[in-house]
Formats: sequence, structure tokens, C-alpha cells
Amino acid sequence: MNFNEKFNQAPNATGLVGHFIAGQLTYQTERTQNIYNPATGEITKQVALADTQTVEHAIAVAQAAFPAWRDTPVIKRARVMFKFKELLEQHSADICQLIGQEHGKILHDAAGELQRGIENVEYACGAPELLKGEYSKNVGPDIDSWSDFQPLGVVAGITPFNFPAMVPLWMFPMALVCGNTFILKPSEKDPSTSLFLAELLKKAGLPDGVFNVVNGDKEAVDTLLHDRLIQAVSFVGSTPIAEYIYATATAHGKRCQALGGAKNHAIILPDADVDNVVSSLLGAAFGSSGERCMALSVAVAVGDEIADLVIEKLQAEIKKLKYGHYADTSNDFGPVISAAHKAKVEGYIQSAEEQGAKIVVDGRGAAPSGYEQGFFVGPTLIDQVTPDMQSYQEEIFGPVLQIVRVSTMQDAMQLINEHEYGNGTCIYTRDGEAARYFSHHIQVGMVGINVPLPVPVAYHSFGGWKRSLFGDLYAYGPDGVRFYTRRKTITQRWPAANVREAKQFSMPTLN
Ligand code: NAD
Repeated sequence: MNFNEKFNQAPNATGLVGHFIAGQLTYQTERTQNIYNPATGEITKQVALADTQTVEHAIAVAQAAFPAWRDTPVIKRARVMFKFKELLEQHSADICQLIGQEHGKILHDAAGELQRGIENVEYACGAPELLKGEYSKNVGPDIDSWSDFQPLGVVAGITPFNFPAMVPLWMFPMALVCGNTFILKPSEKDPSTSLFLAELLKKAGLPDGVFNVVNGDKEAVDTLLHDRLIQAVSFVGSTPIAEYIYATATAHGKRCQALGGAKNHAIILPDADVDNVVSSLLGAAFGSSGERCMALSVAVAVGDEIADLVIEKLQAEIKKLKYGHYADTSNDFGPVISAAHKAKVEGYIQSAEEQGAKIVVDGRGAAPSGYEQGFFVGPTLIDQVTPDMQSYQEEIFGPVLQIVRVSTMQDAMQLINEHEYGNGTCIYTRDGEAARYFSHHIQVGMVGINVPLPVPVAYHSFGGWKRSLFGDLYAYGPDGVRFYTRRKTITQRWPAANVREAKQFSMPTLN
């Protein structure tokens, strides 16, 4: 039985989420995994887990689509993105519903995620300008030289559960306008958004086979990492998997950028505006249930006076926070992604308590009325956290804010610089000199000054330092253009007909 006979059935009405290959939704049912509504704990759908044969088929399809797409004029490729942006805006409510149903984040948060993703599409619309290349006339006698930025071929993106729209949109719009074809392997926990994006791309006029989605787990990922036709891999997810992806992809000769986990600290200096610090920390720590790689999960208070004041105000504000179902937009945040993740986050709170920290607000055992089976963790505030604690060293990825008390700004910076992660950080102060010193010396890739979530806009690039990023180029923005193209430099000479070229055995120079 060939692939088409096996998988190209009618759209599945029984809740099986399949793949999108060669411009069609396809289904494969050998191995599946449950998809949950995290707010209710109910199983809502199943996702097909692609086997090697399915992934190889998608790669072959993308390879076959590459030559024509590569040779499509860049302005036409950009026009598809213009149309895609319009469609994303028209269908934003549908996309936010899908995100809410499978991820659990509140609709207002999903809308923010989508908007940040759309900004990457807008940047990609500038491809004709971004890909213009470089030109130098008369680099030698009758010699001109220029650099082109050419697409790589078939490239792959492997993405995490926490931004089912935004993180894929960090990758494929730029990869596609640069002339590559693409295979997306989204998170198996919330895979439907990617299929919807694929259908919108098709509606926008993207030729079949240029963009493909394979759902799956390690088997699908490993096939992508080993297949010789895959030229580059963009990964976003946890650090152990990022490290594995980077090592395996590069060992197989691929270009790779692998963005990993985080532990983002905010320093609160004694002169900070306390009320603004408190409201900003609430959103940055508990928004999206803390399931953001840029979530602020540690506040380092410089001096006991500011620590006590911030904790007192946080405690009062946390009582007012509301969490629950994604469709109730009066909620501040939703559940975490799974029952296993809820248990893991609660385990970190437990370990902090056992290691001597003080649980100021305890979110364990949260069960909002009507959603008792949902995967909720309430907002949690922990004081007296020290660097030797497991909850300080590891990424919790839940609605948990830990307070570390130090005596000086140097002590606070040392903590951050010695942490294995270096994704984001923020300093709260009114002192410009302190902020400038901090931003210059801190060993972190994305720095906020009174800005709690300093996620770079689409025309800059996103990436952390240390074990938050494996590879050299950041995601999206100008680094995205470089990642999805390779430079070719052409040097050309058209001497006049009467010019005779002398033999030259030494290295050519202009002397
Ligand atoms: P994850 O690492 O579990 O999964 C990410 C992707 O890798 C998924 O597509 C998954 O199917 C695949 N995968 C998982 N295990 C694998 C294995 N053993 N072999 C091959 N592939 C595998 O991450 P997650 O739980 O989906 O996402 C949360 C993590 O992502 C957090 O650590 C968060 O900090 C991180 N994250 C980082 C950024 C960033 O920009 N640095 C952004 C978002 C999320």
C-alpha cells in the first residue's frame, strides 16, 4: 500500500489530529496520544504520532517542491506572506480558541501570543529588502563582487507546547520567504494550531508541498535529525532536549539553532517603584501559568526592607488573582499543561519547603469550582529561597515566584551570572547608572530595564546565553534571515577585448 492509499482519507470526524503533507490533511493511526483540555482534565482528541515512513514521505514532498519555490521571485513569495497575515487576522478568534482548548491559556493571552507571531510574518513580508545582498563595484581591475543569500533547501522546525502559534511563526514565515521548504513538528500536546496555520498558508496561495506539518514524538524528531535532505533544524523546547537536538543535528551535518529552558531573575533595587514592581511581577511570574521561557520566576531583593515590602504587597495582590477556564476572559491565567506537569510543579514547591524556604502563598491542591479535575496550580510565593535549593536551580515552568534576599546588587548579579541558564532578566530601579552597569555586565541574552518580559520585537532577534541556547544564531529577526540562507559570493571580471591577462602565481592583490 503506498502512502496515498494509506493516509489520504477524508478529513477525520472522530477527533484524530493528523498531518499536513503535500497540501492535504492526512491521517495515520498506528500510534496515537491523547490530547486534553487542561482546564477540565478531559481527553478531547487524539494526535497521530508519525512514524519514520510518514516523516520521510513529508521530506520527499518538501524536497520535490523546493526547486520551483526557490526560483519563485522573492516578491511573489512575500505576497503569500502578506495574504497569510491578512488570513491570520481574519481567523484570530478561531486560532485563539484552538490554543485555549489544547493549551489552556486565557483567550486574551492567546491573542497576545498570536499578535507577536503575526509581527514575525510582517517582518518576513520585507524579504525583497532583506535578501537584496551586498554589492561592491571595482574591487579590482574590471572586477565586481557581490554576495547572494540563497535558500538552504528543506528545513525543519521542532516546537514546544507553550506557544503553539507564536514559536512556529518565529520560524517558518522567514524560512519560506527565503525560498526554503519546511517541515514543522509541533508539540504533540497541542498540535491543532499548526494544522490550522498550514491550511491558512494554502489559502494564501502557498504551493502544495512547500509547508508540511508532521505530528509526532521522538520517532518523528529523530527521523528529521538523521535524514540527509534536511539542511537545517530550528528547535525550541527544554534544555536537555535542545542539547540532544543540537548534538545530533550537527553530527549529521545540519545547521542548528536549539533554544532551551530558563530561570529568569529580576533584581529589585531599594530605589525601585514598589507598586509598579509588584504589578509587573504578577504578570511576568503568573501570566500563562508561568509557562513562558521568559517568565520571571526569581525576584532577587536587595535588602530586607524592600523584600518585606514587596512580599507584603504581592501577598495582598495574589489573593485577588483569578485562574480558570480559557474562555472566561476575566481569568488572569489558566491551568498548566498536564496532570504530570501539575505534579512536577507541586513537587518543586514541596522540595523548597523541605529545604527550608518559607511558603508565603501556597498554590498546591488548587481546584477552581467546576474545574476540579483540571490541571491547576494556584499562584505560589516562596520566600527565603537560597541557591542550593532544587527549586532555585531548576526550571519550574509553573505559577511560582521565588524570592531570594541579598545585601548588594553585586551579590544579585553574581547569582544570575553563576546560574546555568541565561535567557532573560530584568532590573527594577530608578538609577540609570546601576541599570547601565547591569545591562553591560550581566551574562544573559535578553535584558529588561523596568521591563519584566524583554522579548525582542520581530525585527530584532531572540536568544539566550549559556544553556538557554545551543548554536550561534538567534531565532527570527536579522539572525533568522542569516539562519535560513547561505551566502554565496561571486567575483566577476569582464575585461575589455584588447586586455591581455598576465600570468600570476602569487596570491592576487592590488599591489
Ligand atoms: P520539550 O523539550 O519537552 O519538547 C519540545 C519539542 O521536543 C516537542 O516538539 C517534543 O515533541 C520534542 N521532544 C520532546 N522530547 C523529545 C525527545 N526525547 N527526543 C526528541 N524530541 C523530543 O519542551 P516543552 O515541554 O514542550 O516546552 C517547554 C520548554 O520549552 C521549557 O523548558 C521552556 O523554557 C522551553 N521554551 C524555550 C523557549 C526559548 O525561546 N528559549 C521558548 C519557549 C519554550
